[in-house]
Amino acid sequence: MTLVTVEVFDTEKKGRGLRATKDLAAGQVVFAEPSFAAVVFDSLSPQVCHSCFRRQEKLHRCAQCRFAHYCDRTCQRAGWEEHKQECTAIKKRGKAPNENVRLAARILWRIEKSGSIISDGQLTTVEQLQDHVTDMAPNDLKELKVNVHDFLNYWPHNGQKHGVDSISHIFGVINCNGFTLSDQRGLQAVGVGLFPNLCLVNHNCWPNCTVILNHGNQMALNALFHTQRRIELRTLEKISEGDELTVSYIDFLNVSSDRQRILRQQYFFDCTCQHCTEHLKDDLMMAVKDSNKKSDQDVKEVTEFSVKTLEKIEQARIEGNYEEVGKLCRQCLEQQEPVLGDTNLYLLRVLSVASEVLSYRHDFSEAAGYARRMVEGHMKLYHPNNAQLGMATMRAGVTLWQAGQIEAGHSMLCKANGILMITHGPSHSITKDLEAIRLQAEMELQMFQQNEAAYYSLREAALKRQPISNLAEPLEDNIRKLFRGK
Ligand SMILES: [Zn+2]
Ligand SMILES: [Zn+2]
Ligand SMILES: [Zn+2]
Repeated sequence: MTLVTVEVFDTEKKGRGLRATKDLAAGQVVFAEPSFAAVVFDSLSPQVCHSCFRRQEKLHRCAQCRFAHYCDRTCQRAGWEEHKQECTAIKKRGKAPNENVRLAARILWRIEKSGSIISDGQLTTVEQLQDHVTDMAPNDLKELKVNVHDFLNYWPHNGQKHGVDSISHIFGVINCNGFTLSDQRGLQAVGVGLFPNLCLVNHNCWPNCTVILNHGNQMALNALFHTQRRIELRTLEKISEGDELTVSYIDFLNVSSDRQRILRQQYFFDCTCQHCTEHLKDDLMMAVKDSNKKSDQDVKEVTEFSVKTLEKIEQARIEGNYEEVGKLCRQCLEQQEPVLGDTNLYLLRVLSVASEVLSYRHDFSEAAGYARRMVEGHMKLYHPNNAQLGMATMRAGVTLWQAGQIEAGHSMLCKANGILMITHGPSHSITKDLEAIRLQAEMELQMFQQNEAAYYSLREAALKRQPISNLAEPLEDNIRKLFRGK
């Protein structure tokens, strides 16, 4: 399959890039790309399938190396080609090396087996990708050397020989181009993979495309119907022939100077996008309530208090102390509310944690109030078709529905659906989950409008049945970055 929608071109300032070779509509798949190679994070190795990257309760362990885990035989068979040599190497070494070393080895085994180009649609080789080894900070270079050393111990002695420079190149590529793989619900980062075409797509803080992971259909009992995990580059808006295609490597919800700093540190470039150079939306992100009545000192104090409290909140969340998280959020909001505007990032961050943690604890009505304010703020800041916005709107809709605010919940779920149809597409498992919840809410809404009493009894029964829409445990917010970076 050759790509007919895009071509590689030389940008003036950003090296190579991709541009559209014809007009594209919003929500279109520009290309789908299977991973060149991918691995599950060390810390999640027993909890995530090494073939389809779903988080599952019960996984089967590879009897040979006792390291890799799979949903079932279908996944194990599908993953064997990638795992075969790794399995022997782990068995021989007695222990699996870290995820970077495992990924580097999988990349080199893949090149040995299939060459640098594994399909007609692949627009670049791994060798051509940027590694930024010469830009690395001394500490990162030290880590790279340790990884190269571990790699040489892990790599089979009778295998093809690779020099230190070419191994370093692979580690450099993983460092700045390793794509974060999330679990099937899009809630947790579970692994890292390399997708060569995606590496060609340059960054823009206000991009015209998004990239999502599609886990494929792993449930098919018959391996014939077992489709591969892959990423999809999807358009967020209409794009004209000749326009450059861009994605955002980081979350937009940082002021321009912070975004530029993060991009410089992790991806080694200075962002010159319009939103950065013109500081667009910075004022909203730092908004102050009735600014003429508030002194700079007030704002400074509340901001400092927010930064400190957010650190404590994160700590309590990592420890799973959700009661403490709730308490800290309420304290922080009390200080923030008289001073900070509705779209202020510090306020929105607290609202986001508060709504998620409280709905996890089944404090639905308090959570619903926070969720609604959070989504309203996010809608004023994000691109209307931002994937993060779609996911946040979906979670808020579920929370409102759980709080019994059936009309508001239903309308929020419809909004989320509108966004996810563009960002994820109709066949994605998250969109399908959302559609099921939305239909349930729609049915309840009709019933509510016709007969309130019947509605309440139905609702009670639905909540008892532990519907699919029960939220997962709030996890560390670590999937906001596209590429894993440092
Ligand atoms: Zn699986
Ligand atoms: Zn094995
Ligand atoms: Zn920018």
